[in-house]
Amino acid sequence: MSVPQITFHDGKQIPQLGFGVWQVENDQATPAVEKALEVGYRHIDTAAIYGNEEGVGKAIANSGIAREDLFITTKLWNDAHKAADARKAIETSLEKLGLDHVDLYLIHWPATVKYGDAYIEAWNAMQEFQAEGLATSIGVSNFHEQHLSALEGAKPVIDQVELHPTFQQSELRSVLAERGIATEAWSPLGQSKDLQHEVIARIADEHGVSPAQAIIRWHLQLGNVVIPKSVTPERIASNFDVFGFELTGEQMDAINALDEGNRLGGNPDTADF
Ligand code: NDP
Repeated sequence: MSVPQITFHDGKQIPQLGFGVWQVENDQATPAVEKALEVGYRHIDTAAIYGNEEGVGKAIANSGIAREDLFITTKLWNDAHKAADARKAIETSLEKLGLDHVDLYLIHWPATVKYGDAYIEAWNAMQEFQAEGLATSIGVSNFHEQHLSALEGAKPVIDQVELHPTFQQSELRSVLAERGIATEAWSPLGQSKDLQHEVIARIADEHGVSPAQAIIRWHLQLGNVVIPKSVTPERIASNFDVFGFELTGEQMDAINALDEGNRLGGNPDTADF
């Protein structure tokens, strides 16, 4: 079965299930992304700071898949929010990826502790990149409501935020839904920690699937864009094999009850990087 698409407010679409490559070395990224493309993923999520855009680009080139059938996201790092730096950053990312445009370019963090409101300058630059065709759609990551409110001009199409069963971001998800901004879940498996939860294990058993498949299904049924990462070929394949079963209302409710405010990454309001 094909991957559902989420339609952005700018009319473009993103495959709801993608493949994340944070903490994947550049040379490891090539075989991992090749495997992902082989089993059917068409949406890859990287970032300048991951240091693996070249490795991702190699896999894209090797795949022979038509460019229009791929959805590639990369991200602007925090130290490049000034307009001239942002331009250099997107040009460098595109060169490393071997592409003339990305499908989605994100401001990685608001980074207000270190760089004040420079993210607003970055947002203005991103709108130019979009107008020039360097990025088809533009969005943000790790933005809270006050950061979204401060943006001028175009509205971001998506906000990529930490979101997994033990950290569910219900309030932020409501804010994004009200604003017509898609929600994308990073660390969707809780960096593998949420896989151990007994409720997840019970639900996975009920369907004869893995805990990761159960969690990915929960994200899909909530409406999140979801980008699990793995460098393990069997997991890359099984994490994509999530369209042959559906969680019941009871199972969705049981996972919805697991939120513990268990943040694993930085808090966008206080992060000092
Ligand atoms: P995930 O929640 O995707 O978990 C990845 C971990 O789970 C890895 O240790 C992986 O192991 C393991 N794993 C994956 N599948 C399975 C499985 N089926 N069974 C058991 N273990 C499994 O963590 P990430 O933090 O990587 O988040 C996903 C993506 O989100 C990132 O790669 C990145 O693209 C994005 N992200 C964005 C951020 C942002 O600030 N915008 C911040 C963090 C992440 P192994 O690889 O060894 O198989």
